[in-house]
Amino acid sequence: MARPRVKCAPEHVLVFDLDDTLYLERDYVLSGLGAVGAWARERLGLVEYGNFLRRKFEAGARTQLFDDCLRDLDIDPTPSLVGRMLAVYRQHRPIIELAPDAANFLTNIAPHIAIGVITDGYLDAQRRKIRALDLYRRGVSLGICTDRWGRAHWKPDRRAFLHMQEYFGLANRCFTYVADNPVKDFIAPKALGWHTIRIVRPGRIDHADHPARHCDAQRVIENLGEL
Ligand SMILES: [Mg+2]
Repeated sequence: MARPRVKCAPEHVLVFDLDDTLYLERDYVLSGLGAVGAWARERLGLVEYGNFLRRKFEAGARTQLFDDCLRDLDIDPTPSLVGRMLAVYRQHRPIIELAPDAANFLTNIAPHIAIGVITDGYLDAQRRKIRALDLYRRGVSLGICTDRWGRAHWKPDRRAFLHMQEYFGLANRCFTYVADNPVKDFIAPKALGWHTIRIVRPGRIDHADHPARHCDAQRVIENLGEL
């Protein structure tokens, strides 16, 4: 395995989740819905479809958006049509930006700290987000999209966390995972003896709706300036 490219040997590795940790996921969703809206306008002549999608999302809808907005326009949401829209959504080039505190944090990293990213989600989409946020040029040494090993290895699976440990070759106590979702984010790093921090960004998409599986971090912050 290649050694990490960092300024000097790191003593600690700060590993971040991506969505709603380094940037607001709602910005990605709106960017994707805009791309699907443009596609529907050009390919299907559905001028209002993009606005329907955006309004439904803003009103709180989180699933079946494509289907429901097609039905609103009296169009049958066939699996093939919805599948094409999902592909446009996941393969669009996202217009997203780091949260200001995240951008500021990454420009002021101490030399003995290395930065990693572990993110869930469809491989294509997550890779495009990492590219859009220019994370490798902003000091991230290793970004792991868990989907590279398939859905079974999305969080809370440990594989990405073990891979991160092996890559940097440091003891488990030298790692901290910063993420937003207590349903799945902290189970593996806590079991492996990492430090854990939950970030609660205003404007995040709320996932805390499965209290039975809730596993919280050791510390809670509202922005990365608090680190
Ligand atoms: Mg997240």
